[in-house]
Amino acid sequence: MAAAPGTAVAAVKWLASAPSTSAADTPGADVDAEIARVETAFDTVSARYAAQAERAAGPAADILTMTAALAGDPALLDQVRAGIRAGGPTAHSVTEAVNHFAEQLAALGGMMAERASDLRDVGQRVVAELLGVDPPGIPDSAEPFVLAAQDLAPADTATLDPAKVVGLLTIAGGPTSHTAILAKALGIPAVVACPGAVEIVEGTEVLLDGTAGVVDTEPDAQRRAAVAIEKSRQQTAATGPGRTGDGHAVPLLANVGSAADARLAVELGAEGVGLLRTEFLFLGQQSSPTIDEQTAHYTEIFQIMGERPVTVRTLDAGSDKPLPFLKLPAEENPALGVRGIRLASVDEGTLDDQLTAIEAARAATGTPVKVMAPMVATVEESRAFATRARELGVTSRGIMVEVPAAAMRAEYLGAEVDFFSIGTNDLSQYLFGADRMSSALAALHDPWQPALAATIAAVVAGARTHDVTVGVCGESASNPEFACVLVGLGVSTLSMAPRSLAGVRAALADVTLAQCRAAAAAVLAATTAEAAARAARAELGRAGRV
Ligand code: PEP
Ligand code: MG
Repeated sequence: MAAAPGTAVAAVKWLASAPSTSAADTPGADVDAEIARVETAFDTVSARYAAQAERAAGPAADILTMTAALAGDPALLDQVRAGIRAGGPTAHSVTEAVNHFAEQLAALGGMMAERASDLRDVGQRVVAELLGVDPPGIPDSAEPFVLAAQDLAPADTATLDPAKVVGLLTIAGGPTSHTAILAKALGIPAVVACPGAVEIVEGTEVLLDGTAGVVDTEPDAQRRAAVAIEKSRQQTAATGPGRTGDGHAVPLLANVGSAADARLAVELGAEGVGLLRTEFLFLGQQSSPTIDEQTAHYTEIFQIMGERPVTVRTLDAGSDKPLPFLKLPAEENPALGVRGIRLASVDEGTLDDQLTAIEAARAATGTPVKVMAPMVATVEESRAFATRARELGVTSRGIMVEVPAAAMRAEYLGAEVDFFSIGTNDLSQYLFGADRMSSALAALHDPWQPALAATIAAVVAGARTHDVTVGVCGESASNPEFACVLVGLGVSTLSMAPRSLAGVRAALADVTLAQCRAAAAAVLAATTAEAAARAARAELGRAGRV
């Protein structure tokens, strides 16, 4: 399945495997000394993640910071100590404790399940440290290669050098997994959820197409030439604002979470920010950031963007992004729980503080700012948010459309706001009833599923009644071919990871608006995702292209 756009031709190298431990290993003689050794190993591993986080930017930095916190979790270390005291071999006690907690996380589903693989990575690194062997990781190579793995932990992906690792291929993962998000952030083409990859022998040369989501193990000379042509087309083709070949403007915006992301967005020609994810400022905090702290954070990002417009999303906490200070009750099914705008019903203060800080930062910088709320499902929620935002001085108010109920009633929700931004990651999750983190269900998150296009078409139709603009800020907007379909469906702006901008800009420049509309019609008329992709490519004149 496609996870990060672009193509690569190179030999495959498999990720080095993790050291194994066994209950039959010999326990250390001195229990206290073994416990001290384990404590040092956990400290070392946690510090390494933290140091990597310092060097990284954007989503990689956030994910590494969270993984450093996992490595410092006292409950985990307690369980390891108990294992050693009960006579277990030291390294194996780590494996056992990690497995115990990872199984609990996996059972919670959603983003928590994703944390299970991060925790296993922590465990493997601690074990390697205890055994004095190299940690599992990226193989060395003088030549650029396609990195293949069962799955990639954030510590692996975050340290990748895009000059060396020219493609990523994983057996597990989904289009919204960490591998996909980080690959896009680094601009490395990626294919995930590819069980057939197990058959690929180390050293085999492959053509990996992260846009179409396919891997060709025997690319012929014609296909290789097509890749080379496409790469040079992308490098030289479009620059400047997004537009189709016949001049229909499609502002290309960036999804950012930090000042570092914003700088990259400007460098890569983003015409603005279509989604400023604000939760990263709140994650890992013991209390809510103050209005002043928030104002300083938003001001820094607005200053970087200058006169380019910025759409800020209010806090999307709850569910997969739990915040301890909000004191929300535990939920059986957090993805369907109190998250996004629903928080406002139990905690008005957090939303008010945030809106106040955003408005103060806008006033200080003069940057054109829009504000939108996530997870809005009803007219009442849309109205309540728009009213409060207006009272606190916000001039452009919108909602994310990521719940099917909002899509179906877009005509009515649109009466309350100035713009819609479709979050296709969550919209797919709720439309298909498929956890966005589940690799087993990755096919349902394929943007080519015709039901997704039909839902987007319904949103655009509803929005027209009120002259409400419609953008897309989910991962689907970064697929160059699907981006053309979105334009054909009537979407007016596209927002994506900064490194995806070039590919989408080039694809748009290569087609006319009429072609985009024909591709959209073809997707709506298709009955399967595969047929939709094939028909759209034909309309876009990309059928034979990689
Ligand atoms: C989405 O759901 O598509 C989206 C853009 O928001 P997030 O991925 O942050 O939930
Ligand atoms: Mg969302």
